[in-house]
Amino acid sequence: MFDEHIRAFRTCQTCPSLCQSVCPVFINDGIKTHSPQGLMQLLNLVRKNKMDFDESIATEPYHCLDCRACTELCEHNIDVGSVMQAGRNEAYRQELAPKEINSFVERFHRHNNPFSRDLVKKLKNMLPKRYFNPNNSVVYFPSCSTVAKCPEIIKDTFSLFDKFQIDFVSLFADPIHCCGYPLLSCGAAYDFVDIAEINYHALKNYKTIITGCPVCAHVLKNIYAKYDFNLSRQVVTVNQFLKPYFKDMNYTVKKKVRSKVMFHDPCYLARYMDEYELPREMISRVSGYEPLEFHDNRKSCSCCGQGAAYPIVERERANQITKNRLEECYEKKANLLISQCPICLYKMREQSNKLVIKDVISYLNDCIEETSSS
Ligand code: SF4
Ligand code: SF4
Repeated sequence: MFDEHIRAFRTCQTCPSLCQSVCPVFINDGIKTHSPQGLMQLLNLVRKNKMDFDESIATEPYHCLDCRACTELCEHNIDVGSVMQAGRNEAYRQELAPKEINSFVERFHRHNNPFSRDLVKKLKNMLPKRYFNPNNSVVYFPSCSTVAKCPEIIKDTFSLFDKFQIDFVSLFADPIHCCGYPLLSCGAAYDFVDIAEINYHALKNYKTIITGCPVCAHVLKNIYAKYDFNLSRQVVTVNQFLKPYFKDMNYTVKKKVRSKVMFHDPCYLARYMDEYELPREMISRVSGYEPLEFHDNRKSCSCCGQGAAYPIVERERANQITKNRLEECYEKKANLLISQCPICLYKMREQSNKLVIKDVISYLNDCIEETSSS
């Protein structure tokens, strides 16, 4: 078991473990076995048959946010998150995953998303019929977290499209609005592949697939291709899609939009999609000034604590990591926090009553009054 990661295990074993200084899980709980090196050592002991892969050990790979902060710092580019994903796959396959994971997967299968709601109905009630034109060759994939928890982002996106005179994008209204990542992060790899296959066939004929969720962007663009469901060329983030319009259009900016704005990089946007300057450029362009920065920013950003399946098994600790991240906003006296991941956004909103927290697109839509071609 885990033999394919032998190089990674050996490298971590002989390393001074500097990456533990950026691991949000270890920083928060201080438990040595939850540091990147600690997690790697446990699975290496299982690999060498020096430790049983029982229920207690099978829970440990869930103590990783898959945030890639350790990989970013690691001189050897060791991807601890992928090894922990293999650990979660094995835990789930051997029916050793924590009970919270099994309940989560069952709930997902009842509704085709993690939120136990009729998301398609909600989506169709949200916007006029003209946004669902099935003949358009460009589609917006809304993400289940956005529909369930931050639906205003979808409205704001299409309002911004209208302001940029973009009338050729349809909202994806097929029954499944989840890219399947929650299943994958639980270790339910086969269930994830089923969702990937359904989404692939529903999306493959679109010329362009836009998404405002960086997790969906990474999964649709990079993970599906590993299972031969290749949508890589079609998938773009909403920022990449809008970039030329920002360049080519003149826009009138509303007055009174100034506030002390801070920007939080979602791990999936900054580290997985390599996109961190573009949202800043857009924010600066409409506001006239650069957002305040967290100490850990861009590719060195720190996770909000809600990545992978960690919040399913460690809800309180995950929320504490979110609170830790928000502390810096209070210290810097920000009154508006902008980010671009529905999971970061809704979890940060749940943990703060002192800040207004918005998506980049909502902020741009708030700021821009109208546009004209230059
Ligand atoms: S991930 Fe890199 S820095 Fe961290 S323990 Fe392994 S080898 Fe060392
Ligand atoms: S991916 Fe993130 S949470 Fe997981 S071990 Fe690395 S730093 Fe820690």
